[in-house]
Amino acid sequence: MSERRYLVKEMFGPTLQGEGAHAGRACVFLRFAACNIACHWCDTDFAAEGAQKLGADEIVARLRELDRHGSRHVIVTGGEPTLQWDAPLAAAIRDAGFRVHMESNGTRPLAGPVDWLTISPKPQFHTGSIALAPGVPADEIKVVIDDTVDEAVLDRHAARWRCEHYFVQPCMDDRYAHHLARTLALIEARPRWRLSLQLHKILGVP
Ligand code: SF4
Repeated sequence: MSERRYLVKEMFGPTLQGEGAHAGRACVFLRFAACNIACHWCDTDFAAEGAQKLGADEIVARLRELDRHGSRHVIVTGGEPTLQWDAPLAAAIRDAGFRVHMESNGTRPLAGPVDWLTISPKPQFHTGSIALAPGVPADEIKVVIDDTVDEAVLDRHAARWRCEHYFVQPCMDDRYAHHLARTLALIEARPRWRLSLQLHKILGVP
């Protein structure tokens, strides 16, 4: 087993996946610390402060403990999880029987396999040195809708990633009603894109 230690911000569950094609599915969460971009409306605490350095065996043991309903389904997120994800950790978690669903910002190739990859691109927040990584095979694309996203942006993302599921999700900041109205208008203009709501926030689950 890998000797590497991974910077884990939190693990929790059992809970529900709140977003995308698997919304409503029972799962546990593995959240890594650190991100390579800084979206100004980011609602996730991925700071290194309070994070723990854990080995793969410790992560697997904790996921098993949390998954007391036996979903064997883990959402791997961050921060940006590809900064830390690697083949030994993927093998350890999948050997324990978990399906791995990851959400990435799409700027880095994966160093280990997953069973489902959500790309949530945020190119409006990249610095000059960061670009979307070429050839990352997505299972779903999820675009958070703020004022910077229009039909042309959605068209570019749809041309870049060929997959079955394309989601638009209103940014849940203090202009939520405005973003939701824009999201619904974009769905009318581009019906390939479907609505994703952050169910966990609406339901008040972690
Ligand atoms: S890519 Fe995701 S985790 Fe990173 S700053 Fe943006 S919203 Fe937050």
